[in-house]
Amino acid sequence: MLTDNHGRRFYYLRLSVTDACNFRCSYCLPDGYRAMDNAPHLKPAEAATVVRAFASLGTRKVRLTGGEPSLRADLPEIIAASKSTPGIHRVAVTSNGYKLPRVIDRWHDAGLDQLNISIDTLDAGEFAAFTGHDCLPRVLKGIERARSLGVEVKVNAVLLQGGADRRLRAFLHWLRETPVTLRFIELMRTGDNRDFFASNHVRGEAVERELVENGWQLVPRSEDAGPAREYSHPDYLGRIGFITPYSEDFCNSCNRLRISAQGRLHLCLFSEHGIDLYREITTGNSIALAERIRRAIGEKEPSHYLQQDRVGATRNLSMLGG
Ligand code: SAM
Ligand code: SF4
Repeated sequence: MLTDNHGRRFYYLRLSVTDACNFRCSYCLPDGYRAMDNAPHLKPAEAATVVRAFASLGTRKVRLTGGEPSLRADLPEIIAASKSTPGIHRVAVTSNGYKLPRVIDRWHDAGLDQLNISIDTLDAGEFAAFTGHDCLPRVLKGIERARSLGVEVKVNAVLLQGGADRRLRAFLHWLRETPVTLRFIELMRTGDNRDFFASNHVRGEAVERELVENGWQLVPRSEDAGPAREYSHPDYLGRIGFITPYSEDFCNSCNRLRISAQGRLHLCLFSEHGIDLYREITTGNSIALAERIRRAIGEKEPSHYLQQDRVGATRNLSMLGG
């Protein structure tokens, strides 16, 4: 198992398949996507080499992310290649859900196990204002279809000022009858969103305390669980999780590494730079690639240093997938 100098084990790969996106989320790409890197994106066979290398190092779970992964027509090929790699037990996709009803059957057929869909609000008008697309009913329809196919669904919601309480009530209402896990993510500062962050960041702990006071109970975590904390409640079919990157111990349970769509290894979401593995990846030699990754892991720092306002080279999370 790939282990760093701080005793953390990495069984989870987040592989970005594109940095492009069709949405304009206010904290990520408020002015829409503009290409900042013209390097080619990994092809399905190259993505398969990456997954093989990581699997040989003990990785068991692969998440395909972006940008918006559904913009790639060959995503089912990448899902299938990941799922058929010996050692990989679970393949997940994180998506904005824009195309979900049209594509979910193909993703499922390709071997998708888990889907994370980003919905920051259940109010259709607010959803349109947050993302630039008036399509919440379609996203929800896609989620229903995914569930009916047996795909595990999680919903990511970034906590934002201004109506946070109203949005929480609507989510709670929905979770009574909907067996999905909603994960509140604390807004993170990136290179591009300084002002937005200053006026919108909400600490997750306050919401978490309120839920505990209302009978939500922490679900015991497995030893290799990542930084999310999950709660359940006997009156609700759904669960609620929290991802609070500004909490003190957040990085102690880091279990993931990231590869950008251009084949760079990012030891942290907020690293100063990625380690360019494109040449090794294109040779198709997953053994040599694994050796390079094993050597690089020694450089992984103990923390993201977000609390000290260090955001590294990450201008926005569409560059790498969050
Ligand atoms: N486009 C896909 C989506 O939105 O699900 C995948 C990529 S997106 C970068 C992955 C996740 O990062 C989304 O759930 C999004 O809400 C979250 N995200 C983006 N920017 C963020 C920020 N500054 N702070 C916290 N979460 C962020
Ligand atoms: Fe696109 Fe996802 Fe960023 Fe929204 S959060 S702009 S959907 S990459």
